[in-house]
Amino acid sequence: MVQLNATHDPARRSWLDSANQADAEFPIQNLPFGVFNDGAGQRAGVAIGDQIVDLAALLELGLLDGIAAEAARACAGGRLNGLMALGPRHASALRAALSDLLRSDSPQLGQVLAQCERILVPMAQVSMALPCEIGDYSDFLTSLHHTERHGRYKGLADPLPPAFKSLPIAYHGRASSICVSGAPVVRPHGQYKNKAGEVEYGPAPMLDFELELAAFVGRGNQLGRPIPLGLAGEHIFGYCLLNDWSAKSIQWWEQVLGPFLGKSFVSSISPWIVTQEALAPFRLPSPPRPAGDPAPLPHLADARDQAEGGIDIDLEALLSTPARRAAGEGPLRITKTHLQNLYWTFGQMMAHHTSNGCNLRPGDLIGSGTISGADDSARACITELTNAGKDPLKVGPEEFRTALEDGDEIMLRARASRDGMVSIGFGECIGRIEPAYDLSAGSR
Ligand code: CA
Repeated sequence: MVQLNATHDPARRSWLDSANQADAEFPIQNLPFGVFNDGAGQRAGVAIGDQIVDLAALLELGLLDGIAAEAARACAGGRLNGLMALGPRHASALRAALSDLLRSDSPQLGQVLAQCERILVPMAQVSMALPCEIGDYSDFLTSLHHTERHGRYKGLADPLPPAFKSLPIAYHGRASSICVSGAPVVRPHGQYKNKAGEVEYGPAPMLDFELELAAFVGRGNQLGRPIPLGLAGEHIFGYCLLNDWSAKSIQWWEQVLGPFLGKSFVSSISPWIVTQEALAPFRLPSPPRPAGDPAPLPHLADARDQAEGGIDIDLEALLSTPARRAAGEGPLRITKTHLQNLYWTFGQMMAHHTSNGCNLRPGDLIGSGTISGADDSARACITELTNAGKDPLKVGPEEFRTALEDGDEIMLRARASRDGMVSIGFGECIGRIEPAYDLSAGSR
């Protein structure tokens, strides 16, 4: 997909110490894009160590030229859509220029260090914003284990939908309610069946998280023209963490055409987009299909996708409850999984998404679906962690959960790694459940 180059060199170090720590999420090999606000408005930046490189400042100081400068100028207005639309060549040129400016043996070291107060903004002093305008959002269902378990909870004779192994199943999600990490997750109201079997409307019980990875579309496709699987990688700008918050009580009652209000109340994403190029050292063959499974149809089969359609990414979910925080306890890891637990690759998701001619646009978001694995520890939502509520999850000495309660906070994290390479992180995707609005209080 992407050739390794000097920006991936594991020997490359930054003049910024915080980028060189062994556990740094944003070493010089990562350089993810995001949008921050330091009180003076939204601007595009790149994460390095515990700092953000202000792209507008680099342009003002004349530290970028050629295609790299063109790429940085496309981020004006504090949205990355323009950069995404330019395609991988521009993002790659900007990454190469940034890597050269930030490396400890930078040819412009004197100039950069003299201006570093203008170039760098401490992460601790800003709030993060959505990285781009997300025009459309689709969420897939590509973990066989997640799908099969849910089929069993629903008592289906065949827990796996017949199409599961023929195509990556998905639904069209709601883009307007996607929020950046840290935004509150207000418990939604909705219609559901209560314990007595009656239908009622109220604050939804059975609130759950779903640990997912999501791809941002880079260059889009023309309406009517599918993206061939062999080219899908060039249309992916990068990836972030996605928590597809789910009100299972609403979802299980309403769902006939697919999820609707059980999902659209809020979805959280991590603020930094780890680029396709940054992940090049961590590509893996696409996950092997179990023996006897049907081969994908030709438009979902491609030798290169098979050779490097997977990515070596470990993911985890942590839960912090009000009781744990009161006792001074840190968050509890409740899920540890791997991206290779998915049955379909992101390339296949994109090829399938456009296979009817549907157009994707720069900044569109494509969720993987809950990344559950076969192991109990790799169950990536509470519904699975508790066997649909039958086995409550122990989260403290006297504390159990079958669903998320008000005050609970979920943190998602992920890391790509490979022997001999510098591992890179995704940052955090955090959301805390707040009580449902009091609708009797009037207009809110
Ligand atoms: Ca989902």
